[in-house]
Amino acid sequence: RLSGVFDGLAKRGALSEADVMEAMREVRLAMLDADVALPVVKDFVNKVRERAVGQEVLDSISPGQAVAKIVNDALIDALGGAGAVPLNLSAVPPVPVLMVGLQGSGKTTTSGKLALRLRERDRKKVLLASLDTQRPAAQLQLAQLATQAGVVSLPIVAGQTPVEIARRAMETGRREGYDVVILDTAGRLSIDEALMDEVRQIRDVVNPAETLLVVDAMTGQDAVNTAKSFNEAVGVSGVVMTRMDGDARGGAALSMKAITGAPIKLTGSGEKLDALEEFHPERVAGRILGLGDIAGLVEKAADTLDHEEGERLAKRMMAGKFDLDDYASQIRQINKLGSISGILGMLPGMGKIKEAIGDKDLDQSILKRHLAIISSMTKGERRAPSIIKASRKKRIAAGSGTTVQDVNKLLKQFDMMSSMMKRFNKLGVKGLMRQGMS
Ligand code: GDP
Ligand code: MG
Repeated sequence: RLSGVFDGLAKRGALSEADVMEAMREVRLAMLDADVALPVVKDFVNKVRERAVGQEVLDSISPGQAVAKIVNDALIDALGGAGAVPLNLSAVPPVPVLMVGLQGSGKTTTSGKLALRLRERDRKKVLLASLDTQRPAAQLQLAQLATQAGVVSLPIVAGQTPVEIARRAMETGRREGYDVVILDTAGRLSIDEALMDEVRQIRDVVNPAETLLVVDAMTGQDAVNTAKSFNEAVGVSGVVMTRMDGDARGGAALSMKAITGAPIKLTGSGEKLDALEEFHPERVAGRILGLGDIAGLVEKAADTLDHEEGERLAKRMMAGKFDLDDYASQIRQINKLGSISGILGMLPGMGKIKEAIGDKDLDQSILKRHLAIISSMTKGERRAPSIIKASRKKRIAAGSGTTVQDVNKLLKQFDMMSSMMKRFNKLGVKGLMRQGMS
């Protein structure tokens, strides 16, 4: 298997621009597919490319795997690094926590979840206050959640403005010795100035220790604009991503971090009050990259290309003993991978073979034909193809259901490969690299 040889070469060196570019194409697609905002994708891809090109690759992994690892690490970094960032509740009690976000993003639910968690885990005395005077039932919704969470909610007083309720909440918090006051605000269907003004006024009254932006992971690209607006208007100290239980790939998480600079502190993973979790960058990184796609491709390649066989072939090539049996073995391995043209594009040297046989669309059918031809040969013919003259060619063509022309093409290609390998042996690894084979 040629790939084994060249892969082996690359292993001993540094990651080339080509290795990285190829992998980054996949990464870019995976990220866009996961709904990461385009400028964020571009920026990320550029940074990783800079970081990856020229990096030494360990012997035990392929360049593709090496790039995948670098991408994964960079993504975890970009998402805020390993380990969750805790809520900062170290202010003088009652510590105000302000929940902001669009309507339906999950603010009220998250307020209830957070209250339950702070009461149960942190033994905090929590007061829930709804500043949502927009929707008639909003304050009742929060009161019900408070009951479920086993915490107190601020008594509802008709006719007060959000700012007045905020003030009353903080006074109640101080007077009655609460540790934390969670202020649930009204959302709008979309960003508007009135909403931002309201949130700004509330912020100025309560001076929150945490301003948590609640965003729906399913909104993908739109989440970016939401985050930008809220961050500019009131400053966001942390993000809560809700609906992570859905099938969103979580791309919004990366956009959030890139745009607000604020870490994702919590995630919502269901409608129930206990469905609040710490944010795990590594899990979301996996989700964004779609482990099924990229890492899967890398794994598939590694699994399928039998390592020992690759090494055996490599040794035979080095020794100048590569014959048609070896070539057939190589084809079988490549065949297992499925998309031939994609894989070939990544294999240094294969381009030369494509040129050699004058066929731009080297594809599975040609390789299959080659296999058929080789299997119609005798052992002696496979070991020493030079004995294959006109009558043998006719026999082989008939046996494999091909034409003499096909047999000639295969033999010509094999000749090219052989002479390439001889040159390879003469030049050695470094020389070959200099010739632009990598
Ligand atoms: P608000 O308008 O921002 O206050 O949003 P709500 O808290 O009222 O939530 C709107 C809807 O989303 C409700 O039906 C919630 O049950 C639901 N919801 C909130 N968080 C999550 C979550 O993490 N997962 C799921 N599946 N649903 C959620
Ligand atoms: Mg609400």
